[in-house]
Amino acid sequence: MALNILVCTKQVPDPEHFSRVSLDPVTRTISREGIPAIINPLDKNALEEGLRIRERFSGKVAVMTMGPPQARKALEEALAMGADEAFLLCDRAFAAADTLGTVCALAPAIQRVGPFDLILCGNETVDSGTGHVGPQIAQFLDIAYVSNVKEIAFEDEKSLMVKRALEQGYMRVRIGLPALLAVNKEINKPRLVTAFGIIEAAEKQITALDCTGLGVNPNDVGITGSPTRVVETFQRVSRRRGEVITGSPEEAVKKAAERLKELGALVL
Ligand SMILES: Cc1cc2nc3c(=O)[nH]c(=O)nc-3n(C[C@H](O)[C@H](O)[C@H](O)COP(=O)(O)OP(=O)(O)OC[C@H]3O[C@@H](n4cnc5c(N)ncnc54)[C@H](O)[C@@H]3O)c2cc1C
Repeated sequence: MALNILVCTKQVPDPEHFSRVSLDPVTRTISREGIPAIINPLDKNALEEGLRIRERFSGKVAVMTMGPPQARKALEEALAMGADEAFLLCDRAFAAADTLGTVCALAPAIQRVGPFDLILCGNETVDSGTGHVGPQIAQFLDIAYVSNVKEIAFEDEKSLMVKRALEQGYMRVRIGLPALLAVNKEINKPRLVTAFGIIEAAEKQITALDCTGLGVNPNDVGITGSPTRVVETFQRVSRRRGEVITGSPEEAVKKAAERLKELGALVL
């Protein structure tokens, strides 16, 4: 059984540098300038799962991202991990999209370069983290969708049994292909990129697609295709103060108790 698999990946600011992410008070957009970017961590789990399915059966794994030109780096990494081909959706018209504006570029692109038997997404991203993109793509393509997937098993060529994580357990869901699954981090441990993978990736194709290439009206994507607007952003000011108490554990506990009494937080 040969499967055509697509993994949607988003390039996000590295959480290690989140303290440097700021909000532009005028445009109310996130400023990610100068911050190192990585593949959204759960998208690596999605890619790993796609690669394992291809290794078990056969077929192809493609990766797709909508993002600025520098998002090509995320695709190169995905190709080095083992993906067969990549699609970069890049156009100034895609900028400042909300999740619907994002999907209005992704879904037509998937229709154009597909069809795919299985589309894998991360359950959410570490930056915007709405979890909207996967279900909206499925809705646009009119295919089945399951979120928070922690295990995928094939029943036969056209049917999967997936485990969907719940707060205290899991739910088993049977789903027919084509389908879109959004995975969580329990599903696998993504492989590391090898030197051989990097050499092989240099031979693989990254296809860039803009509005014209997709046959998409620029008004349907980006800010003009986004029905939501950020009307206010604010930075929370922390009122907490930290104090370092030194000494042996016994002395430190005594000093801490005295200080708390002083502040009226401890009545003894
Ligand atoms: C009201 C509003 C206004 C916004 N304005 C801006 C703005 O001005 N500028 C800006 O940069 N961002 C903006 N955003 C954020 C932008 O919409 C999101 O970054 C984008 O839509 C992806 O949403 P998410 O990160 O919540 O993805 P989620 O829905 O949490 O992602 C789930 C999965 O979908 C896939 N996915 C998500 N995004 C992509 C992608 N781009 N390409 C391929 N696969 C993807 C991945 O597999 C991911 O793991 C705005 C968001 C909202 C809600």
